[in-house]
Amino acid sequence: MTRRPYIVGNWKMHGTRAMLSEARAIDRAAQRHMKVEVALAPPFTLIHPIHREAEQISVGAQDCHQADGGAFTGDISATMVADAGAKFVILGHSERRQGHSETDALVRAKAEAALAAGLRIIMCCGENIETRESGSAVAFVRAQLKASLPAPDEALADVAERITVAYEPIWAIGTGTAATTDDIGEMHTEIRKLLVELYGEEQGGEARIIYGGSVKPENAAEIFAVPEVGGALVGGASLTADSFMGIALAAGEPTDH
Ligand code: PEP
Repeated sequence: MTRRPYIVGNWKMHGTRAMLSEARAIDRAAQRHMKVEVALAPPFTLIHPIHREAEQISVGAQDCHQADGGAFTGDISATMVADAGAKFVILGHSERRQGHSETDALVRAKAEAALAAGLRIIMCCGENIETRESGSAVAFVRAQLKASLPAPDEALADVAERITVAYEPIWAIGTGTAATTDDIGEMHTEIRKLLVELYGEEQGGEARIIYGGSVKPENAAEIFAVPEVGGALVGGASLTADSFMGIALAAGEPTDH
């Protein structure tokens, strides 16, 4: 089965209700580009308002707590974001691993909580520039993913539908310089092998692997032409409907893989 390209906007800590008009424009444009699955992960405060109005796009969260509830001031559980209308959650983003000291074990606990709450997950991974330059990026990403993804388990059903991996080299995020297509191709091939090792050919072979890091309308087509690239996680360029849907449009074009 070939999955539709998955184009996900990560609004990070951007967006008040004034941004709802942009979300509406994205939703309207997505209705005209059904070959692509478009999704938005706004700040928590905008999940419900966007979900309420959206006809085509799905809405997700950028994080959730690993517990279902309790004395955790300021935190939000997977059940709560699902209740607000989220269908997925981004986990293990490098800005949370770095800025909030999230370990692989914590990210895995969050992933298990999210799946238990009925959410899909987008599991982020990626090396920093020192690791890339030392030649150990593949080993690093494999180890990071192995420790962050939910352990294979008989109860873990429908992995291909519910787990997406986002390869996001830290040095490419927000810098304007995406990874080369060779580097993306090599890493996505390795991630595919790992997913098959973990979850088997049927599920691990079908789960989406998307790329993130300075994707914009100008470079999207060449990135989507790389084998094993099933879409994109987009930060800065997802903040306006014009640039975000420019990327989605490129994903809908036929490629030779
Ligand atoms: C991100 O933070 O997930 C991201 C990919 O950001 P940008 O597109 O701005 O590099």
